[in-house]
Amino acid sequence: MDQRHLPEHPDFLWSNPEPKKSYDVIIIGGGGHGIATAYYLAKNHGITNVAVLEKGWLAGGNMARNTTIIRSNYLWDESAAIYEHSLKLWEGLEEELGYNMFFSQRGVMNLAHTLQDVRESVRRVEANRLNGIDAEWIDPKQVKELCPIININDDIRYPVMGGTYQPRAGIAKHDWVAWGYARRASELGVDLIQNCEVTGFVKDGNKITGVKTTRGTINAGKVALAAAGHTSVLADMAGFRVPIQSHPLQALVSELHEIIHPTVVMSNHVHVYVSQAHKGELVMGAGVDTFNGYGQRGSFHVIEHQMSAAVELFPAFARAHLLRTWGGIVDVTMDASPIMGKTPVDNMYINCGWGTGGFKGVPGAGWAYAHTIANDSAHETNSAFGLERFETGALIDEHGAAAVAH
Ligand SMILES: Cc1cc2nc3c(=O)[nH]c(=O)nc-3n(C[C@H](O)[C@H](O)[C@H](O)COP(=O)(O)OP(=O)(O)OC[C@H]3O[C@@H](n4cnc5c(N)ncnc54)[C@H](O)[C@@H]3O)c2cc1C
Repeated sequence: MDQRHLPEHPDFLWSNPEPKKSYDVIIIGGGGHGIATAYYLAKNHGITNVAVLEKGWLAGGNMARNTTIIRSNYLWDESAAIYEHSLKLWEGLEEELGYNMFFSQRGVMNLAHTLQDVRESVRRVEANRLNGIDAEWIDPKQVKELCPIININDDIRYPVMGGTYQPRAGIAKHDWVAWGYARRASELGVDLIQNCEVTGFVKDGNKITGVKTTRGTINAGKVALAAAGHTSVLADMAGFRVPIQSHPLQALVSELHEIIHPTVVMSNHVHVYVSQAHKGELVMGAGVDTFNGYGQRGSFHVIEHQMSAAVELFPAFARAHLLRTWGGIVDVTMDASPIMGKTPVDNMYINCGWGTGGFKGVPGAGWAYAHTIANDSAHETNSAFGLERFETGALIDEHGAAAVAH
């Protein structure tokens, strides 16, 4: 078991200031993306008169609810660029922030169960390699060697036909990632303001000049959206539309078990992904619920479906007890790729649409978004992810590599 220590209590990691009258940059949404963006604005660009406004508690949205899988084995060059940039940042993050995050490069396996899966996976491995990403195709025997508890028998509903494997991929402790970024951002002068909901915008013609909040109006030189599923609500207030749909996505953890699951296993086809947390809980996720909503709860049949797949693949889990389940609201675009760039409103920026995969993107997205805000133009890693692609048709179809049904 990993013996690194628990961090300090989060309340003492950053200050809790009253909102000022005005900031150079206001970031809406105190999830991983909002906080990381604030940190890189301060660190990379020297912009420290920044507020992150969070309607609830810091990193209490999807950041607190995800299954923490980190990998960069996406299909297209554009995705490889941003996710691999992110993974490289992950590899130095604990040291950079001086904060323990239980970042564990234990490898991620994406199983294939049909001929179509096999073809898609092999193609992706080749594409990954061309982009310098450490991807391998592994046959069922190699799957079993890497994760001895997997059932690779032929007599299950969808036998394992092999999988892709990324050795540098892994997991990290999500809360601690947010707290690590928050602590450093706060030290650099960023105001992290909780219990402060943005309810409207102040504009001068087509230019955003401030935000209306439950704690009063605050002026801003620039405003950056980082509100995941609620981005469409905020965009509506600002006068434009974004092509995202917000879906519940559930996850669950079991009671503590001996450490028996050495890697991360995902299956897009039978809809389950499993890793084992440092203490020993099994952490499992499923596909999204198909309806749209903001309810932060999902349907029971999704969990039932996910558990039947899990028990078939891992018969050893059949007697594991469920400890708790929860849901988050993920923001899904039509090409399963994020949106990051400028908006039709002057001085307003957008970062959303990370769907089921934005935790792994936190460092890379924060870096690129900070660059976009500071320079009023995209970073090389996010230039293809602007809103305009939904008009030009230059979509980046990552449905296969997103690895969760949506
Ligand atoms: C069950 C589940 C499993 C997942 N598993 C993985 C995984 O294994 N790997 C992976 O890479 N990703 C995963 N994800 C996706 C990942 O969690 C998200 O993509 C990522 O956390 C998004 O970060 P964010 O900062 O954009 O959003 P959030 O963390 O949701 O932050 C947005 C914040 O905006 C705030 N906000 C909204 N409206 C307003 C307003 N009007 N005013 C002020 N604040 C506002 C919200 O309260 C929220 O805190 C998973 C998600 C879920 C739900």
